[in-house]
Amino acid sequence: MQGQPMIVLGEDSQRMKDKDAQSHNISAARAVAESVRSTLGPKGMDKMLVSSIGDVTVTNDGVTILTEMDIDNPTAEMIVEVAETQEDEAGDGTTTAVAIAGELLKNAEDLLEQDIHPTAIIKGFDLAATEAKAQINDIATDVESGDEELLKKVAETSMTGKGAELNKELLAQLIVDAVNAVTVEAEDDSVIADLEYLNIETQTGRPVSDSELIEGAVVDKDPVHEEMADDVEDADILLLDTAIELDETEVDAQLTVDDPSQLQNFLDQEEQQLEAMVDAIADTGANVVFCQKGIDDMAQHYLAKRGILAVRRAKKSDIEFLREVLGANIVSDVHNATAEDLGHGSVRRDEKEGLFYVEGEADTAHGVTLLLRASTEHVVDELERGVQDALDVVASTVANGQILGGGGAPEVELASRLRDYADGVSGREQLAVEAFADALELIPRTLAENAGLDSIDSLVDLRAAHESGDLEAGLNVYSGDVVDTLDAGVVEPAHAKRQAISSAAEAANLVLKIDDIIAAGDLSTGGDEEAGGPGGPGGAPGGMGGMGGGMGGMM
Ligand code: ADP
Ligand code: MG
Repeated sequence: MQGQPMIVLGEDSQRMKDKDAQSHNISAARAVAESVRSTLGPKGMDKMLVSSIGDVTVTNDGVTILTEMDIDNPTAEMIVEVAETQEDEAGDGTTTAVAIAGELLKNAEDLLEQDIHPTAIIKGFDLAATEAKAQINDIATDVESGDEELLKKVAETSMTGKGAELNKELLAQLIVDAVNAVTVEAEDDSVIADLEYLNIETQTGRPVSDSELIEGAVVDKDPVHEEMADDVEDADILLLDTAIELDETEVDAQLTVDDPSQLQNFLDQEEQQLEAMVDAIADTGANVVFCQKGIDDMAQHYLAKRGILAVRRAKKSDIEFLREVLGANIVSDVHNATAEDLGHGSVRRDEKEGLFYVEGEADTAHGVTLLLRASTEHVVDELERGVQDALDVVASTVANGQILGGGGAPEVELASRLRDYADGVSGREQLAVEAFADALELIPRTLAENAGLDSIDSLVDLRAAHESGDLEAGLNVYSGDVVDTLDAGVVEPAHAKRQAISSAAEAANLVLKIDDIIAAGDLSTGGDEEAGGPGGPGGAPGGMGGMGGGMGGMM
């Protein structure tokens, strides 16, 4: 056979091959998937994430959980990427995508144990994913453009089980109105909802039901000087991303003075420079300035004297949104600012709330702000995540125009169609296609499980309904009954499901393709690789083991 192997790796490096490598990777990936499964669906639980500096996040959102978790395992990170891709591409369905990826790998492990080569599994998964996506087209229902009731249901489904749940009717209406406000018809007749023109502002201290949709932008700041006007009806607005201050270096320069008049001279000079900056602003014709950085006390005084309303340390995102709303330019050097850079509209002050409302001129203005309110910071943060997901799915429904029922209906239907399709697939790939079908059914099983229902009974009932031709049969997680999900108003954009299936399959295949792990440092595997799930034995790989165990213990 072979002679003495040549050693080319450094002393500290570690290597794992074939089955060891596969099972190492699969358990790491599965541990991640396990950690979010309990949050799936309307009855899913939340997780409390505590960062290393003690910041607390309470959330039900898959991608938030995974990105906030301190994951220290390269394979696990590939699964986190599934969630991130799903979030970017679809805005919702992150838990679904990750859970399916984990289940695909679990089923792949069974096939590997039967000595089926990874290439056959990968091929089968590819075939199945392609077929499933094609079948989604067949199952999906077209959305009539402007069907507001349906869009509201899409928003509500997305918010179910999130912080937004209690006020979901009001919020769904706000979300649909917001998306409508930024929806435009492109030249080729396609519609796009441009969420660039939509900003979310959050405020604590008032009930969620006081949330509102506001034309234009909202800036949560005070004027820098009490003598400034609160309301400016004909506002000519300058957006500035640099400070109205003198450079640090100029101020810090060492100064040796022989007599007091020299010091006075120097101070006068500084004042003059600041006054010149304010004059440059006034020369553009601006009567309002939103500045992203600081404004010197002296400059504040000059601004007030010239009747200019100024706000300092506005958020970068607010300045950028104001640019969209007003069609203004963001200026970096006041001495180069011109009238052309200004935006025009009105600025209104809500003294009680401490907010500025900024609207553009009727014919040029675009942009709305969704002002979300809730009692506390944690509540408003989770509300914002839920609303953000709902905005994304409504926008994607408007753009792609296709919906599916939820509650596990599409997964059961696709599984059944994939099993039919598998009959025509030859070789071992057939088993992989079947394994793929089984993996999709994880979704209805988990929805049932998280609702305290018997997952096997539920799945059997769902399958029976689909056998008899009810395409939209899904789970009512509150009653445990099988219902027509479209009638029940549980609807999701088809695009998100397609994306979830794609990214789950791609991630699973990426993991399966690896047969050799060469690590420059410690792979930190604890011997036996069984069960990387939450609360599993410390045998799971390195950081993940700790994570899985820790999270499991917490929930
Ligand atoms: P994800 O991160 O994948 O979006 P969610 O926790 O939002 O995870 O759960 C989404 C799942 O919950 C989908 O399968 C959806 O169909 C289902 N779902 C949402 N609302 C309902 C409902 N009222 N009844 C049954 N299933 C629902
Ligand atoms: Mg969701």
